[in-house]
Amino acid sequence: MDWSVLAISASVFWIASLCKILHVSYFPSKDQYFDSGDNLCKKTVLLVIAHPDDESMFFTPTINYLTSRGHDVHILCLSSGNADGMGNIRKDELYKACAILKLPLKQVVVLDHPELQDGFGNMWNHIFIAKLVEDHIKSLGINTVITFDSYGVSGHCNHRDVHFGIRKVLLDSQQSSLEVWELDSSSILRKYSGPIDIWLSMFMARGRSRMKFLCLVNEHPLKTFQAMAQHASQWVWFRKLFVCFSSYTYVNTLRKIEL
Ligand SMILES: [Zn+2]
Repeated sequence: MDWSVLAISASVFWIASLCKILHVSYFPSKDQYFDSGDNLCKKTVLLVIAHPDDESMFFTPTINYLTSRGHDVHILCLSSGNADGMGNIRKDELYKACAILKLPLKQVVVLDHPELQDGFGNMWNHIFIAKLVEDHIKSLGINTVITFDSYGVSGHCNHRDVHFGIRKVLLDSQQSSLEVWELDSSSILRKYSGPIDIWLSMFMARGRSRMKFLCLVNEHPLKTFQAMAQHASQWVWFRKLFVCFSSYTYVNTLRKIEL
């Protein structure tokens, strides 16, 4: 195999994919589910994450998409990310990242509860999570929740627990209009394919109902880098590489959870 030809082909494909994303940035899609209307259809969205930096590493295509269309986006971060004793620092970093992402700081809540401490060994109680999130939904008038899927992108147990807690919210919900969307965890090959994954994500979304499956392209990928850079305590070389090569920087696939 001629490796130089392979490298050139991959580079061309990478650049073509970035051009596609730029094209979407300049000519945003108007036919997505979250575009479906006027002010009456504006959503009050709650993004539930486990740690400060989850929003910047995984969810910026969704956040940018929703804010640019005038939806009201709130963030509930269930822990301060205190695994290394830097909870207060990481909390401030989340606020700085949210300022870059144009989210009002009063719409960002970071919890620091003994039952919800950051760490691979710390299992989070799903019933407890559900109760916290339900209270939040009621007090803010939330009609749409977005969170991790059952694998949680990286497989982190805290991400997965958040998913199962939110599933319980949906199960218990008396509010028939509450929608819950999960971020699709892709295979490792797709996860590190950078912007190239946009083609497969768009292909997979074709022919599927936009009421249940969405492919959201990041219309401002530079903002993702700027937002992640606000997490200075986490902004080490391997995370810089991650943000460059992760498909989650460029595209999010959301799937509606139906029980
Ligand atoms: Zn996390």
